[in-house]
Amino acid sequence: MENLQNYEKAGQIAREVLEYGKSLIKKDASLLDVTKKVEAKIFELNAKPAFPVQISMNDIAAHYCAEPDDKTVFSDQLVSLDVGVHVDGFIGDNACTVDLSEKNKELVEASRKALDNAIKVIQVGTTLSEIGKTIGETIESYGFKPVRNLSGHGLDEYNIHCPPTVPNFDTKDETQLEKGQAIAIEPFATNGIGLIHEKGLPDVFSITEARSVRIEFVRQILNRIDKFNGLPFAKRWLSEQFSLAKVNLALSQFKKLGILKEYPPLVEKSNGLVSQAEHSLLVDDKVKVLTEIS
Ligand code: MN
Ligand code: MN
Repeated sequence: MENLQNYEKAGQIAREVLEYGKSLIKKDASLLDVTKKVEAKIFELNAKPAFPVQISMNDIAAHYCAEPDDKTVFSDQLVSLDVGVHVDGFIGDNACTVDLSEKNKELVEASRKALDNAIKVIQVGTTLSEIGKTIGETIESYGFKPVRNLSGHGLDEYNIHCPPTVPNFDTKDETQLEKGQAIAIEPFATNGIGLIHEKGLPDVFSITEARSVRIEFVRQILNRIDKFNGLPFAKRWLSEQFSLAKVNLALSQFKKLGILKEYPPLVEKSNGLVSQAEHSLLVDDKVKVLTEIS
């Protein structure tokens, strides 16, 4: 099965890149520099980013992406690294959390253990409710809360988020996993209330439908975005080729046309710290963890 080979390849590269990125997250390193190195590694290994590398810190659960002139320097933050790569559209998505303060080991362990336990119950026919219950109960056993409005997801060709939505708590959803599904499981654990909201300006976007534009440079930017095959992209990627002023203008045009999807940072509502762990899996008679080192 050619799909399986592509999924396996994407998964292995996603893992290798994640481990590489993890090794770079150290006190005094720059977030922008680490992001660029991690993205370069993806290309070096003959894959492409399925979305811009995200490095979210402390109470930011997800979707923080280095700005073109990002000045963040690592010191004692809780740092989550989320890496997605694709090989011909087949995606491997995985994440881990590094605790630079060394004061949040349990919080990091909670999401990681929840992921391990979820993987143990997954087989063809497992209900979403059962997965959510396993994740939620594991995180609670550490005295933390799962983030209830973030979830895992299905993976499809050039599609990072498709059904099923894989919950991080028991939603009583009796939908069963089906043979052949590729899914990402991603528990988030927090010492806050367990809810996130969108906060701050987005640096990650995608274009939701084709549209013709009149202004030449806006068209050039749209042509550049077309090469991402509908997958999310970073403002930073465009600003390597076009001036930031032009990029901002083009983005506002796309927004006016109603074809721009924005992904602002997702911040824990009570500003609790958030850890994340993630693997991509292929549901089969023998479940395969695609982003595990084989
Ligand atoms: Mn991810
Ligand atoms: Mn994911």
